[in-house]
Amino acid sequence: MTDRPSAGEEPAGPGPSAGGRVVLVGTPIGNLGDLSPRAQEILQQADVICCEDTRRTRALLSAFGIPAGSRLRALHAHNEAAAADAAVRQAAAGATVAMVSDAGMPGISDPGERLVAAAVAAGVPVDVVPGPAAAITAVVLSGLPAGRWCFEGFLPRQGQARAQRLAAVAVDERTTVIYESPHRVARTLEDLRQACGDDRPVACVRELTKLHQEVWRGSAAGAVRWVEDHPPRGEWVVVVGGAPPVSVGADAVADALGAALDAGVDRRRAVADVARTLKVPKRQVYDAALAMPWPAR
Ligand code: SAM
Repeated sequence: MTDRPSAGEEPAGPGPSAGGRVVLVGTPIGNLGDLSPRAQEILQQADVICCEDTRRTRALLSAFGIPAGSRLRALHAHNEAAAADAAVRQAAAGATVAMVSDAGMPGISDPGERLVAAAVAAGVPVDVVPGPAAAITAVVLSGLPAGRWCFEGFLPRQGQARAQRLAAVAVDERTTVIYESPHRVARTLEDLRQACGDDRPVACVRELTKLHQEVWRGSAAGAVRWVEDHPPRGEWVVVVGGAPPVSVGADAVADALGAALDAGVDRRRAVADVARTLKVPKRQVYDAALAMPWPAR
């Protein structure tokens, strides 16, 4: 165990990993009881701990009696590239480099992704100790379909980028999960109501895993009213139900099939193409083909 660099020591440059690695470690999103034994173990053993805010991470370690020593390195949105490169150099020389964010999973609306990319590019092994993430916790608690869902993170704050993202959410048939701050949640709910309609199912989930955890379930219009009546505090996730599937009528299928056949596409291929393009079952297109007058069929 002596060939690892001590914390603070940096090798000359990246090279093959001499037993070192980068480990992303999930930390609690509110409830300290959610720091797993494996997370505690790696935070105890790591040579270097990259973190967004050294004071917060020092407090977390201290709550578990884990000495921080001189192992903490700031890695946040403003120094991410340089700090990630430095951390990868240490891992390449044999150090175990843990990465935590202020809460939840690093890399999920938090720094982490760049560190992983830099490690992968340098051939340094990457591992993960999974922990809580507000998105997954919220989607399962929302009661909305969790079989297929889309993580939007924070929506762009304004302009075309925001409008486009809202328009995409409005037509997405999957459940969408959105992170939001308490200062902007009222506006975001109103924008979602306008984009998705009054009746779209919405769950507002706040202060997950904390004493004042709360889940409100209802419609987009209801959520706007609820937030007006209950000034938002704490941390929020908005979960939006998927758009109802667009049903394609028999006429549209017959028209598309007729156009393909008129263009000389053979029937088998035309059926497959129409089914794929209109996102309808092949059976529905075959039935349309059979209903067509000869010689089209
Ligand atoms: N890395 C974190 C994760 O894995 O979920 C997300 C960090 S992101 C900077 C912070 C946002 O996550 C908050 O604005 C909120 O939308 C959501 N969040 C984090 N903790 C939460 C909690 N306890 N309850 C509800 N939302 C939370």
